[in-house]
Amino acid sequence: MAKPFASSADLGEKRQSLEVLADGVYALTAEGDPNVGAIEGEDFLVCFEALATPVAARAWLARLREHTGKPVRYLVLSHYHAVRVLGASAFGADVIVAHEKTRELIAERGEQDWASEYARMPRLFKEPGSIPGLTWPTATFSDRFTIDLGGGRGDLVLQYCGRGHTEGDLVAWLPERRVLFAGDLVESQAALYTGDAFHRDWASATLDRVASFGAETLVGGRGAVARGKDGVAAAIGQTRDFLTVMLREAGAADSLKEAFARTHRALAPRYGSWPIFEHCLPFNVSRLWDELHGIERPRVWTAERDRQVWNELQS
Ligand SMILES: [Zn+2]
Repeated sequence: MAKPFASSADLGEKRQSLEVLADGVYALTAEGDPNVGAIEGEDFLVCFEALATPVAARAWLARLREHTGKPVRYLVLSHYHAVRVLGASAFGADVIVAHEKTRELIAERGEQDWASEYARMPRLFKEPGSIPGLTWPTATFSDRFTIDLGGGRGDLVLQYCGRGHTEGDLVAWLPERRVLFAGDLVESQAALYTGDAFHRDWASATLDRVASFGAETLVGGRGAVARGKDGVAAAIGQTRDFLTVMLREAGAADSLKEAFARTHRALAPRYGSWPIFEHCLPFNVSRLWDELHGIERPRVWTAERDRQVWNELQS
């Protein structure tokens, strides 16, 4: 029997857990669905990631409002993917911050990515009609952006670590608490999506840079919060291993189909049961195959190209 397309048959609600990581530092995890976070400043909030629709985001904000009533001054977007950004209007943020490449990618492929992700993961798009349009960052940077939290809370540092999950990922680092919000650059007990990635950079210099913060708590893009130096090292190590195995297996293949078969065989024993593994792998291998054959920037995913790649590799 053919496998259902991407996550289109994944319709079961996931349980969301709000965790207080430190005084005024929050994460909402959801059993492998996209994670979000929030950091309190003296008299304002910084929210990290926006979820897929304003309705989905409002449910998260309602949970957060059980802990703090401060207004959202900054909404930080780790990268351009639709399920991370299209809920932005619910936050009423004064400033929407992203890397400069993220803004460019939204302009270049935001519409196509919206259609692609909606078809791949319909369950995440709660009341899709509530999305007013593409989300446009109002403040961008190339290397580092610092937010003074005030009231002796220190800074929140937004840092570009190099090309990785996309061309423009940022991480949010809270040095006072040694907490890192890593976006999709790190996954913890969840499969990686690499369909828009730069595998070689990500597996080497970019993850080195992420590890160099010395975080003691790490919130990845999906999956559980990683706790303690060992837990953080394990999450980063898992991410690097996934990429390294992909690079090795696809690099030894003579065709795209063989690359998919080899990668699937090598990854499945360790990662096959993790969220979105089967969904992601055809798109991942397609992009990696391009990267290994001189296509510098990821090709734009459209709803049509998604189906074509899926039918070729996964069904
Ligand atoms: Zn992503």
